[in-house]
Amino acid sequence: MIGNFEYFAPKTLQEALTFLDKYGDKCKVIAGGQSLLILMRQGLVAPEYLISIKGISSLNYIRSDLKEGLRIGALTPHRVVEKSAIIRSQFAVLAEMENKLASIQTRNWGTFGGNLCHGDPAGDPAPVLIALSASAKVASLKGERSIALEGFFLDYFETALQPGELLTEILVPPMPARTGAAYTKFNVIETDMATVGVAVSITLSPNRDTCESARIALGASAPVPIRAKHAENVLKGKKITDDLLEEAGKIASSEAKPISDIHASESYRRELAKVLVKRVGKEALARAIKA
Ligand SMILES: Cc1cc2nc3c(=O)[nH]c(=O)nc-3n(C[C@H](O)[C@H](O)[C@H](O)COP(=O)(O)OP(=O)(O)OC[C@H]3O[C@@H](n4cnc5c(N)ncnc54)[C@H](O)[C@@H]3O)c2cc1C
Repeated sequence: MIGNFEYFAPKTLQEALTFLDKYGDKCKVIAGGQSLLILMRQGLVAPEYLISIKGISSLNYIRSDLKEGLRIGALTPHRVVEKSAIIRSQFAVLAEMENKLASIQTRNWGTFGGNLCHGDPAGDPAPVLIALSASAKVASLKGERSIALEGFFLDYFETALQPGELLTEILVPPMPARTGAAYTKFNVIETDMATVGVAVSITLSPNRDTCESARIALGASAPVPIRAKHAENVLKGKKITDDLLEEAGKIASSEAKPISDIHASESYRRELAKVLVKRVGKEALARAIKA
């Protein structure tokens, strides 16, 4: 049962930030409501003031520029990211990830930024964005700041957003030359959250025979999405073979800090991380070779 609250629907960012500043921890922001409404229905969140930001059209956009990269407004629905021609051609891994996120109905309502602000360690966008070295732009009445996505998540359902701040944009830098990126998640039912999700980005050396750099990000494997940095180092400077990817998978699995829950045991999640790092690494490598 959802309790009573006062509802505001600002049309500009400035207006929304003013409400946030005025009502502080008595208020909650709602975007697509796909995660927040569940918490409100369960009585876990009971704001006195609900500020709907969904109508702030200036935060719903996808822009791309060769120099700065891809900019996605926080209120862009998942489905728009999935279908975007720019994203499909330049950052296909993001569109592929979105295609596996929830159902079409949820993707139509849920927003890209809302997903990140919810801070669920099993969310799909975060590992991909971390593998792509993305950052988040946040705003408050005091001004704007930028946070690297890998530092955005602090703990289960806890982000680096400070009181009075809204996430406004996600910036994905241009993909370096000779780079391939891939993502997959293991889940039992197709529209479910990840039991484990893995994103890998590989950049090859100019003669394409060794790995110049790699980023491996794991979802649903720790209280927050994490980078498996030791596993990345195993790939760096070497010719990537199946055996090397297998070794990277084993190391990534040891870097994970998964829990046991109704979906999977800790050891099963570690096994998944190991297998998926190898599988996704192979796909990222194949794409880097063709890039
Ligand atoms: C049936 C179902 C299946 C799902 N499956 C998946 C899945 O497979 N993978 C996956 O990743 N997710 C999944 N989700 C989660 C869901 O897609 C996202 O969490 C959702 O997109 C959140 O976006 P929203 O706009 O609905 O956020 P809301 O529910 O409106 O808000 C979520 C949280 O973020 C805060 N917030 C929202 N926008 C901002 C902002 N711009 N600045 C600051 N704070 C903000 C809110 O205050 C709230 O705390 C599923 C959800 C459902 C209901």
